[in-house]
Amino acid sequence: MYNGKSVAFHTLGCKLNFSETSTIARLFQEKGFVKKEFSQPADVYVINTCSVTENADKECRTIVKGALARNPEAFIAVVGCYAQLKPGEISNIPGVDVVLGATEKFKLLNYINLSSKSEHAVIHNCEISEADFFVDAYSVGDRTRSFLKVQDGCDYSCTFCTIPLARGKSRSDTIENVITNANTIAAAGVKEIVLTGVNIGDFGYGRDIDGDAKKRKTYTFLDLIKELDQVTGIERFRISSIEPNLLKDEIIEFVAYSNRFVPHFHIPLQSGSNDVLKQMKRRYQKELYEERVSKIKELMPECCIGVDVIVGFPGETEERFLETYDFLNCLDISYLHVFTYSERDNTEAITMDGAVPMAERKRRNKMLRILSAKKLRAFYESQRAKELSVIFEHENKNGFMYGFTQNYVKVKYPFNEKICNERIDVIVGDFDEDGSMTCVVKEHLLA
Ligand code: SF4
Repeated sequence: MYNGKSVAFHTLGCKLNFSETSTIARLFQEKGFVKKEFSQPADVYVINTCSVTENADKECRTIVKGALARNPEAFIAVVGCYAQLKPGEISNIPGVDVVLGATEKFKLLNYINLSSKSEHAVIHNCEISEADFFVDAYSVGDRTRSFLKVQDGCDYSCTFCTIPLARGKSRSDTIENVITNANTIAAAGVKEIVLTGVNIGDFGYGRDIDGDAKKRKTYTFLDLIKELDQVTGIERFRISSIEPNLLKDEIIEFVAYSNRFVPHFHIPLQSGSNDVLKQMKRRYQKELYEERVSKIKELMPECCIGVDVIVGFPGETEERFLETYDFLNCLDISYLHVFTYSERDNTEAITMDGAVPMAERKRRNKMLRILSAKKLRAFYESQRAKELSVIFEHENKNGFMYGFTQNYVKVKYPFNEKICNERIDVIVGDFDEDGSMTCVVKEHLLA
């Protein structure tokens, strides 16, 4: 046991990484560690890295340096996707003690050595093909919402992406175990769960916990959400992100009429040019995407739709970029997450012709961010005077608290401890310069 020893965590990247860090943190607390903020001195610092981050190396160096400034004797562990892809680079960062890849990160406690700092970082990594088993994870206690991991890895081969190299083949949890975790999260008083993974629409297929590829499962993502919809104690389930080709009509229809699944979809598009989509080896053309959006809006006109898009992919001529711009401009969507293409080792795209100059990539990124702000404002304004429900975060920001409605509108209200972390009915007000919408709490209206 490590009674009285302290540990602090820093997570880079996606909701999946946050769910895994929170799970690793619980393993440390079970062994007697006290959890500290990363800004505080600690005996152990754990950095959970991301392979998508632009300057992952530089960022990791800065974070390690900061930790050592707080405690030069601290044990530094770097884990996660970037650690799986570039263990050598990380092991050269002064002060790092251990580097753990995809299969070892959940066994971190086995590698802790508080007696002395290592001369050189020790790497425990493996071929990604060995990461063929599923480890469940969920976040709890850090926020109002909990991130629940239901799937990991990916069998797709999008030409710009390193995630399959960092996380391995697609594999899923069992429905039973997901329900068990959802009940555990409900028992902790959390009201909203966000389902997360790498390619969650692929849930059910591929390998299961026993790593048995041959045993193709007979259940799907739709089966999972139908079961989850029965979990009492959780007010809302939110689907974090789902590939357009896996967002079947049945899933959209189920969400439209479900008790607990909210009208909010985040659907990666990546490009609005079919030529570029082909180069990216995406598994759809823009027409399918458009058809998915219309289907959603037909059944849920108030639904929030978020879109991932990459600018500056090799071969994205000005003409093809404008095709993407016009496609998005005409689509009934709510906001964009805009990524600038950046070359990644061991991806197919890095060898492609037609590289777009960085300045041009940045110009296109800016154009789409302006479009996103316009779309978001229009979507928010369309919700004015509507009666929606919100779960307010337990944080007082200059006398106000913030929360998201079921359709992902950010609303603000004067801080009131009594109604935090509860599902509250509100009437949406006006757009506020801080980017949220004001609101009035219905019950206060009636008081
Ligand atoms: S679907 Fe494509 S972009 Fe998404 S994780 Fe898989 S390979 Fe990467």
